[in-house]
Amino acid sequence: MTAKVIDGKAFAARVRGEVATHVARLKAETGRTPGLAVVLVGEDPASQVYVGAKGKQTVEVGMASFEHRLPAETSEADLLALIDRLNRDPEVHGILVQLPLPPHMNSDLVINALDPAKDVDGFHISNVGRLGTGQKSMVPCTPLGCLMMLRDLHGSLSGLTAVVVGRSNIVGKPMAQLLLGDSCTVTIAHSRTRDLAAVCRTADILVAAVGRPEMIPGDWVKPGATVIDVGINRIERDGKKKLVGDVHYPSAAEVAGAITPVPGGVGPMTIACLLANTLTAFCRAEGLAEPQ
Ligand code: NDP
Repeated sequence: MTAKVIDGKAFAARVRGEVATHVARLKAETGRTPGLAVVLVGEDPASQVYVGAKGKQTVEVGMASFEHRLPAETSEADLLALIDRLNRDPEVHGILVQLPLPPHMNSDLVINALDPAKDVDGFHISNVGRLGTGQKSMVPCTPLGCLMMLRDLHGSLSGLTAVVVGRSNIVGKPMAQLLLGDSCTVTIAHSRTRDLAAVCRTADILVAAVGRPEMIPGDWVKPGATVIDVGINRIERDGKKKLVGDVHYPSAAEVAGAITPVPGGVGPMTIACLLANTLTAFCRAEGLAEPQ
């Protein structure tokens, strides 16, 4: 069996196209433009690439992009003052603080200083609590993108067994909450899980969010399962730099029913969902109907 390849790049382009259509319509109807502010502190190379891509795609869908690049030595107080300004700025509907922050800053404090209604990453404690209790919230972009791909593939996820490997606050835990919300039977595995291979083999839906290159081989995958590989790992092989996921793609694709590639799977969906969340935040702020 060879798995169906889930094309996240094409899916993300579709989502961005839908967002752009809504933005154009809402601009014509209201004269208002959704705005996304992205704050980057320091010079982390990967973060710079992400922030650049976010700004470019924000403009491409017709939204206003506000980039704030601050030096690594910026004080926490200055960052909090900027967040306060953005919270009060009516042109800014979404705020994203690129993580990780420099070590002298308390990320929890900074994220919780955001207006939860503008917290398009869904990391504010109020959004985390709302997601956990099934209330309307901002949903973290990467797990939201995974859920959209799963719903598109399966229709209903109800009753499926899902295993999420990884329990981070930004991917693993919210992913598990979303799958539970769609009535999957969910197991969260992590570094202390015993017999991870056996746990993974129970999964109709296997989500890998670990950060270890090709850790999950094909013989951990239940035949016909859907494999969502969130991992982005930079490795060097045969003298060439390469991106690989947390799943060993060649062997897993032999067994799985469907699988996301790396690159071109979950990655592109993350920014598309950020734009969709910004549109949602705009509609809520302006009292407009939210696009479905
Ligand atoms: P974290 O490092 O925060 O969390 C990793 C999780 O994996 C932890 O819960 C850890 O367990 C678990 N883990 C580590 N080693 C093992 C092991 N040997 N067996 C089982 N579980 C293990 O990572 P993130 O959640 O932030 O990211 C995960 C991956 O997803 C990374 O590759 C990252 O680059 C990628 N990513 C991709 C995004 C995208 O847009 N596609 C967005 C965000 C992340 P424990 O808690 O016990 O330590």
